[in-house]
Amino acid sequence: MKAMLLREITSLKQNQTPLSLHEIPKPEIDAGEVLVRVTRCGVCHTELDEIEGRTPPPRLPVVLGHQVVGTLESSGLPLENRQQAVGLQRGQRVGVAWIASACGTCNHCLSGNENLCAEFKATGRDVNGGYAEYMKVRPEFVHLIPEAFTDSEAAPLLCAGAIGYRSLRLSNIQDGQCLGLMGFGGSNHLVLKIAKHKFPNTKIFVFSRNPEEREFALSLGAAWAGAIDQNPLEGLDAVIDTTPVWGPVSEALRMLSPGGRLVINAIRKEESDKEVLLKLDYPSQLWMEKEIKSVANVTRQDVREFLQLAAEANIKPEFQEYDLEDANLALLEMKQGKIRGAKVLRIQP
Ligand SMILES: [Zn+2]
Ligand SMILES: [Zn+2]
Repeated sequence: MKAMLLREITSLKQNQTPLSLHEIPKPEIDAGEVLVRVTRCGVCHTELDEIEGRTPPPRLPVVLGHQVVGTLESSGLPLENRQQAVGLQRGQRVGVAWIASACGTCNHCLSGNENLCAEFKATGRDVNGGYAEYMKVRPEFVHLIPEAFTDSEAAPLLCAGAIGYRSLRLSNIQDGQCLGLMGFGGSNHLVLKIAKHKFPNTKIFVFSRNPEEREFALSLGAAWAGAIDQNPLEGLDAVIDTTPVWGPVSEALRMLSPGGRLVINAIRKEESDKEVLLKLDYPSQLWMEKEIKSVANVTRQDVREFLQLAAEANIKPEFQEYDLEDANLALLEMKQGKIRGAKVLRIQP
């Protein structure tokens, strides 16, 4: 099968083609796994963190990609036994998200926080993902795709959407309060759509360095859009930061109202502007019970609730398609901030 492989940790500054196309054997599944024929795979900023070593895969080469949509082909056990247990049938359209597995027995798993499990395995990092024609997965960790979505529409919902939904939940925002979104790429544009659906009286303020993204935000119903260091003139009750750097963290803390919460939806931050943290002003940026919370991974429940909600509310991502062979171009454009909505690799026509 065709697969785009990451063979070494590198930097996109030095190497603009970190992935290479290879013919590799189809995955061999064992009794606890099913095979998925991949049709689409979303491109996520986390792939840059993997390629550049901020969250490196434990083994190389690896197939990246954790917003996988495809059809169920076969399973290691007789299909009936294995798939009926989790309600699956051959030929069904399924998705695979960032969570590839968790132990199922630790306190985090038992309390519904399997995203925090020490045994958490990530799709496309700890196990091979969807930048390929086939992938294998444990059937308990696939998600049915609602009919409302095409494969390309569904792919970005599986990470950008699901983790955006988790971020919004963790922000504790209430209807009528003011919400800030720092960065407006694949995830936050979906957060805006969910927030407008769930909290119709909430004003949403969007911060982006990119004028096109600011226009895009206004077209989707943002109350205001400006540069990251501009002042929205209203205090913010919660801010969700999806940027890879530290400046927006400092700005967000300055804009939070008393008791407000900053949610950082980023698996890693880059080091380039970390010194801004030394200039944090405690009275204006942290005092008055301001909080900072990060978002880590997703649970299966986040993914499934979000898919359901998105189908009900007719929330569809804006996306651009690329051929599998052009994955490097999609990643490079993401690195350069040339983002409008999400990016999706086309693996089958
Ligand atoms: Zn992702
Ligand atoms: Zn666990």
